[in-house]
Amino acid sequence: MSEASCIFCKIVAGKIPSRKVYEDEDIFAFHDIHPWAPVHFLLIPKLHLASMAQVGAEHQALLGRLLALAPRLALQEGCRPYPQGGFRLLCNTGAEGGQEVQHLHFHVMGGPRPWLKG
Ligand code: AMP
Ligand code: ZN
Repeated sequence: MSEASCIFCKIVAGKIPSRKVYEDEDIFAFHDIHPWAPVHFLLIPKLHLASMAQVGAEHQALLGRLLALAPRLALQEGCRPYPQGGFRLLCNTGAEGGQEVQHLHFHVMGGPRPWLKG
């Protein structure tokens, strides 16, 4: 399911180019176009969900798989191992949560500091 006007649905469909980090049947990950940190990619479900506010019990397995991928992909993309390294996992939700793109996404950020933001 996709939404015609959604930029991240277009990225999943290959209609907008991205630097892909990971893809399977349900999940897509790609580098953020304006990275805040040496490593900064976005982890998203292919299913169009506008935000965490739309997540329900039927999405538990999908969200579980998505979150379980974060540490593996963080290491793959160059984050150093925990505890000296590690990464930040961030999900902005709604206007007051700082969300700009209305397709559920988790930011995964890491690498040596200082970072541009955060
Ligand atoms: P948020 O404020 O959590 O909604 O963040 C949206 C993120 O999407 C920002 O960090 C943007 O830099 C990023 N972004 C927007 N458009 C693209 C794109 N075409 N490719 C990669 N990242 C993007
Ligand atoms: Zn979408």
